[in-house]
Amino acid sequence: MPERMQDLLEPILDRQSQAWLTGSSPSIEELLEGSPLRHDPEAQLDVIYNEIVLREERGEQPTVDEYAHRYPHLRRELEQHLEVHRALGEEMLTQTTPLQGPETLPDAKAAQHGGLKQPPGYELLHLLGRGGMGVVYKARQRTLRRHVALKMFEPGRVPSSREIMRFRSEAEAIARLQHPNIVQIFEISEWNDLPFLALELAEGGTLAQRLQKLPFTPRAAAELVETLARAVHHAHENDIVHRDLKPANVLFAADGTPKVTDFGLAKILQDPDGDDTPRDATRTGEPIGTPRYMSPEQAAGQHELVSVSSDVYALGTLLYECLTGQVPFVAASVIETLQRIRHEEPLSPRRFQTTIPRDLETICLNCLHKEPSRRYLSALALAGDLRRFIDGKPITARPTPTWERGWKWCRRRPTHAALIAVSLLLMISGVAGAAIWERREQQRVATTRSEVEALMTEGQQALIRQDDDIAEAKFRDAWIKVQGEPALRDYQTGVAGWLDHSRRAANRQRWKQRVPPREYDELRDEAMFQSVLLDPRRPESVRAAREAVAAALQLTLPDDPAWRQERERLILLDADLLHFEAGAAPALARLEVTADFSSRLYHTRKASFLDQLGRKAEAARERERAERFPPDENTTRFLEGMDRIRKRDFAGAAVAFETILDVEPEHFTARLFQALCSLNQNRPSEARVGLTACIAQRPRFAWCYLFRGQCAEKLANPAAAKRDFERAAELRPLDPGR
Ligand code: AMP
Repeated sequence: MPERMQDLLEPILDRQSQAWLTGSSPSIEELLEGSPLRHDPEAQLDVIYNEIVLREERGEQPTVDEYAHRYPHLRRELEQHLEVHRALGEEMLTQTTPLQGPETLPDAKAAQHGGLKQPPGYELLHLLGRGGMGVVYKARQRTLRRHVALKMFEPGRVPSSREIMRFRSEAEAIARLQHPNIVQIFEISEWNDLPFLALELAEGGTLAQRLQKLPFTPRAAAELVETLARAVHHAHENDIVHRDLKPANVLFAADGTPKVTDFGLAKILQDPDGDDTPRDATRTGEPIGTPRYMSPEQAAGQHELVSVSSDVYALGTLLYECLTGQVPFVAASVIETLQRIRHEEPLSPRRFQTTIPRDLETICLNCLHKEPSRRYLSALALAGDLRRFIDGKPITARPTPTWERGWKWCRRRPTHAALIAVSLLLMISGVAGAAIWERREQQRVATTRSEVEALMTEGQQALIRQDDDIAEAKFRDAWIKVQGEPALRDYQTGVAGWLDHSRRAANRQRWKQRVPPREYDELRDEAMFQSVLLDPRRPESVRAAREAVAAALQLTLPDDPAWRQERERLILLDADLLHFEAGAAPALARLEVTADFSSRLYHTRKASFLDQLGRKAEAARERERAERFPPDENTTRFLEGMDRIRKRDFAGAAVAFETILDVEPEHFTARLFQALCSLNQNRPSEARVGLTACIAQRPRFAWCYLFRGQCAEKLANPAAAKRDFERAAELRPLDPGR
């Protein structure tokens, strides 16, 4: 909510609360009367909601319907608000019932009767999310007139007094962290004897959500992780290790500023009470942090080794994921993931994306060393190297030599090492016990195979749904699995093929988002237009047409089969133009620029240029090739129409375009050229109708307005002509009348 709005609203809400608490009941309309907010739906909603809460406190049972007939546009929001509000009321009751023992919470009755329905000083608005420890609500802080995030224990779960104590003492410690990239703790307070935190609100989503869309560019990934590393270093300077850095714990503020959050698992290195038991144990269902993002020492359960360096490792995994869309180690089960983290070397990020710069890869892998002592010594050192990379300066980290990676691989893969040993044993003495190893290995391969197959099926289904990004991610996962499994080598080509296919599809999707197809259509039509209106004897008009073709070609993707037909069309056009300009030889060369094309028109054109160059035999072969394609009446007619226009045979051209439009009424260029023929045959009304239809199809195509303006002039309608000329000039400000 904008500051100004809050400033205006708070006094109204205060007045309302005062009035209801002292027995009067002003209506919502009365309260908002005269305020600039009186028609503002958000303000109305707040005042209504406040009234509902106040009425409930009086023992009334207000319903949504009472308000919805006066404010029908707010019905849905009101229902949602009330649902949360009522659910909270109920949770208050459930959370207090099963209490026992000396370390417990206030008894049920106290909370039920004496308990507050809203945390003191705050008004809960709606649920923001749920985490391992509890829930997070968006709330309004009454006194400071701001929105905050309130984090509290999961209602219904009874925390032990020890948990509560740690929640408090650690929250207090973390509250000391003042950094623009760390979610600030404003207050630690209590609600019905349970502590809750008021946190800075960061409503721009999490990094996990952003990563579901697309990997970052190398530069964006480096910048983000540099920022996070500096924030994490600030925590380290205050003796706090985060221990659970992962994309879900990076929030974005509304303005896009990244913020590290959830220090709920943090370890205080200098714990005032000297207690260094891992606090993760307090989390339900999640033993120690989040497996996929754990450092090797965490994965091994060596809590005493968890230090600053573990956060450096986690920052490395974040960088890895931002760059590749993939965490360094994934497996079907948690146990296997932990095993991989401990024993395997990550695949080089550049194997996923060859465009990742080597230095950035080196920085990333330098965070991911198994031995903490080999990683960057601090998050600040990591930030420093990232900054050097961004600024194009030499980095300090050195890549791990290839021989070392190979050696590490053997050392860290006890299974494989054992297998090699086992097969040797089998060869030498046929030891029966080795069969057990072999069976296990076969089982493992079978599991991976079925995982790969499942991923492939999911990927293919995603392709059918046109979820190309998801398809790409599935095939990439399958590819990683196949890469790490020599026994599945036979899958490699197939998986790589699908991965490649889905990448192209995803790229195309991204490309489409970046360059609207309409823009391409306009450039192509412009090229067609220029090439039909040119005067072959005037080199500058031929050049202008070739420039237009080049502009359209620039928007196409050369390697993408989806663009082949469009590119072929444009290159054929360009060859024709080159033919006007410089003759058959360069025109032929233009057609031979790629071996990709093959169509009736392409071979016919080639044959015609070869004929002109006296290469009869080759020309005959090209003609034969052309014959293998079915005749394309429309294209033939279109070219004929263009040729006739160039020869000023407007009547003949009009017939050609008309025939096309009978079959393809949407054919924009045919309609435009037909209208031009009408105009040149002095039939302005007819031309005008055609041009208006063209404008409906392509409202940004300047030429349509220019010619329609000419029609209006001929029809003695200067006002309409002026409007069209102005619009044409607007769309082509540099040279409207060319
Ligand atoms: P957590 O318990 O910290 O894992 O938070 C659970 C969810 O609540 C997160 O995934 C966010 O969607 C949301 N959340 C947590 N903290 C905030 C905050 N400060 N601002 C906005 N949303 C938050």
